[in-house]
Amino acid sequence: MLKISKVKNAYKEIEDILGTDFVSDKDFMKAAYSRNVDPAFPDRWADIIVKPETTEEVSEIVKIANKYKIHMVPRGGGADLVGGSVSEGGILLDLTRMNQIHEINVDDYYCIVGCGITWGSMLSELQKKGMTTGILGPGSGFAATIGGGLSNATVGFSSTKYGLVPDICLGVEVVLPNPDGTIIRTGAASNQYASPFCRYGVSPDFTGLFMGDVGIMGIKTKAFLRLFPDPPFKARRYYMLLKDDYSNVFKIGHKLRKEVGDGLNDLMVWPSILFQLVYAQTINKPSKRPKVTGPVFSVTLEATDQRILDVYLEKTEEIMMKDNVTRPFEWQEIDLDMVLSKDWKFTLKEEFNFFQKYISTAPPKSSCTTCHKVAISRLNESVQKGVQFNLTNQKEFPPKNPPYPVFASFLMFLPNGNCVIVGGLGGDNTDENRETTMNIWHKKIRHQVRYGAAHYWLGESISQSIVEAGAYTPEFMQFFKDMKKAVDPNFLLSPNKFHMYSYDHDYTEHLVKD
Ligand SMILES: Cc1cc2nc3c(=O)[nH]c(=O)nc-3n(C[C@H](O)[C@H](O)[C@H](O)COP(=O)(O)OP(=O)(O)OC[C@H]3O[C@@H](n4cnc5c(N)ncnc54)[C@H](O)[C@@H]3O)c2cc1C
Repeated sequence: MLKISKVKNAYKEIEDILGTDFVSDKDFMKAAYSRNVDPAFPDRWADIIVKPETTEEVSEIVKIANKYKIHMVPRGGGADLVGGSVSEGGILLDLTRMNQIHEINVDDYYCIVGCGITWGSMLSELQKKGMTTGILGPGSGFAATIGGGLSNATVGFSSTKYGLVPDICLGVEVVLPNPDGTIIRTGAASNQYASPFCRYGVSPDFTGLFMGDVGIMGIKTKAFLRLFPDPPFKARRYYMLLKDDYSNVFKIGHKLRKEVGDGLNDLMVWPSILFQLVYAQTINKPSKRPKVTGPVFSVTLEATDQRILDVYLEKTEEIMMKDNVTRPFEWQEIDLDMVLSKDWKFTLKEEFNFFQKYISTAPPKSSCTTCHKVAISRLNESVQKGVQFNLTNQKEFPPKNPPYPVFASFLMFLPNGNCVIVGGLGGDNTDENRETTMNIWHKKIRHQVRYGAAHYWLGESISQSIVEAGAYTPEFMQFFKDMKKAVDPNFLLSPNKFHMYSYDHDYTEHLVKD
């Protein structure tokens, strides 16, 4: 009873601020916002859905939430894969009306955007000015937002050269979840006389506090992002390994990094099974069945001048063809409708279609994701460990799920010694399979954490599994809680993540010995 009246009162006060069009407690709205792309989770209905347009409105909503002690969860595009942007009860803040481009500063190479803008919209505008943020955001970038990318420490296209989304962030404007709904800016913009042209040098790096935080430390309303002149000369080449053996991948990746350097925009390795699956579904098949001998390297190069690009192309060919471990590959060997690599042109559409087109080929419903980063020298070992885990734990997988990690050998190279291993397992949105799926999902993530992996989007399932694996020391966990308490004294923003349910809750009861 008390809860109903609290929610009703809060609703009324929010309506006074936003007007009737941008707040709802209707069932069809709650249902529409009840999921991410994460079948293992049950549908979860928020009490109130709000769509603020300005930072000040967000701040007012936060004050009301504190007044009635109602929890809140921020949401951008809702393209999360790990239960991050839904809320059981409480207030769900849909930030997609905060989608303005406030400034594109070509002289000083930065831009200011609302955190609810999608990658697709922002990059299309930047392209017109010959500019880019370097990293192009995630595969879901036509729907996913900048705020989601910063909060999920997203890896995406061109991450090999430009890093993760937080790596291009010069600062943020954030509403803290405290009773005053305090608005702060970080980076150079924390100097109220400065433009957000750099990240460090005015105060400690408080931007980092909000990066990869899965929305538990504050509600990001504006982002200050680095800009780069978009190198106009780009090329892509594919090379297939002659054997289905990952032992050479590290060596080749390492060499490309060293010798092609800044020309290397993106480096991915796609598993051979991807080509078999795509071939099975291709309409315009070549007459000869493709000979798929191993994984395929996709190498994207970029340069400011065609002559420089030609050198990069030559160097790449030299590295790839040395020792006869790969051969040049063309997508036309699988699908006659695909363009030859010599005719390849960069388009945003192709980038953002990639995941939908290829990752969704199989296994169906493969979205209990376990994507994680490992040190590149441990690539082969980590891929083997993943395969071994699936074989050993075969009986614990949900029924009909393939007992192997399709795409667990899909790799994306990042700057320095980082590499992403993309992977996951199938999940059904059915009550009978939910517990089995959740159990093996968490167990697999714990296994990865214990071989030293670092994940990126953490949402609920991954952040909780990291705690279960015992990754955080008691000292770190105390520090973490103290930092959160400083910005969120009533513990209202994004509960449940990291197995945090209150500041007194003992996280050690969630430790799991496998
Ligand atoms: C087909 C597909 C492909 C994908 N490809 C990739 C990929 O290549 N790389 C990758 O990293 N991810 C990928 N993802 C996962 C996901 O889409 C991305 O991580 C994306 O960046 C999430 O953005 P979003 O706006 O949808 O965030 P949401 O799902 O809305 O939110 C993600 C998290 O951020 C928090 N949050 C969102 N906005 C804010 C804000 N303004 N302030 C504070 N907290 C906030 C939420 O509470 C939640 O915890 C993919 C997903 C799909 C479905």
